[in-house]
Amino acid sequence: MEVLRPPIGQETLAARLAERADQGSLAHAMLFTGAPGRGGLALALALARRLHCTNHDGPRPCGKCPSCQQHAQLQHPDLHFTFPVVKPPGKDKALSADQLITWRTLLQQEGPYFDMVDLRERMALGNKQPFISVHEAQDILRRLALTAHAGGWKVQIIWGAQFMRTDTANKLLKVIEEPPAKTVFILLADSTESLLATILSRTQIVPIPPVTGDAVGQWLQGQGASPEQIADAVGLSEGDLARARRLVREDAAEEFALFVDWMRTCFARDGRKAAGLADGFHDLGRERQKQFLVYALHMIRQCIVGNYGAAAAVRLRASERGFAEKFSAYIHHGNVVEMQKELEKALRDVSGNVYGRTVFLDLSMRMMELLHRPK
Ligand SMILES: [Zn+2]
Repeated sequence: MEVLRPPIGQETLAARLAERADQGSLAHAMLFTGAPGRGGLALALALARRLHCTNHDGPRPCGKCPSCQQHAQLQHPDLHFTFPVVKPPGKDKALSADQLITWRTLLQQEGPYFDMVDLRERMALGNKQPFISVHEAQDILRRLALTAHAGGWKVQIIWGAQFMRTDTANKLLKVIEEPPAKTVFILLADSTESLLATILSRTQIVPIPPVTGDAVGQWLQGQGASPEQIADAVGLSEGDLARARRLVREDAAEEFALFVDWMRTCFARDGRKAAGLADGFHDLGRERQKQFLVYALHMIRQCIVGNYGAAAAVRLRASERGFAEKFSAYIHHGNVVEMQKELEKALRDVSGNVYGRTVFLDLSMRMMELLHRPK
């Protein structure tokens, strides 16, 4: 799981923080600055794991001891998360504790490299402005006044510290200046500009550098991005993994739109439009053609998984699900195997340098026939 991996591209900084922890010279309140996609949260989590691990050897936590196992579930009792939220309907306080499940799910599914755009989307905030309330500050004070469960370090992460209200920040000043014994505050913010001077003067500022292009590229490759997508995303992301991933996904959204258009055209047996689309596919170039065919195979497979009642096993984005639910009525045991074979053949042909237009035109003709096969 991604939350357990060493921070992408920030190994040096992670090792330096672990070293400080070993030497007893770790600041009790740190402010990690930089875009969230640079991995400040990954570093904070790695440091917390390292502090809690009872069996570490070298800079990394062991991954096996009870503490590491609790971290794997993001359920360590002495690891506390604060992040911007809105008041839930019917409640009079905006508290991170009420949104912890959403937060953990986001972390487990996306890893620690998400930003405010991702969090907003996950929490379905719409136009609402999330914040870190004074009630949250009271919660923090209450939590940290308790003895650590495991008798070791208490780690309080404040993600999006720039969303603290002035009264929130003021309420925390004293505890940040003089935390209880064996307590570490890790504040994360885009920059120092949006924070009160009184907070800045009480924290050790740790600037998080942009992730190198190589590390961004390797990370995206591990997620199945194509060389072209990687080149685009590395160039545009400025060392920000959240932004890089979004660039790749927006690309994938284009693929989905194309797939829907193509399948509708084939289902309607619209030969003229199919010819136009084949020209369009041709112009995409070989890498994008391959990527599209891989995507089409994925979509067809997901439809058949859904048809066999394994709804939980379906791996589709929310935007794709609605289409797949309707489209899956036309994918069944009478045509799915041949569809996959046709797509795989097209993939081989494209890789083997067959003229793109020809490949997609032939493929479309076959799909027109297969989509109308009886069950
Ligand atoms: Zn451990």
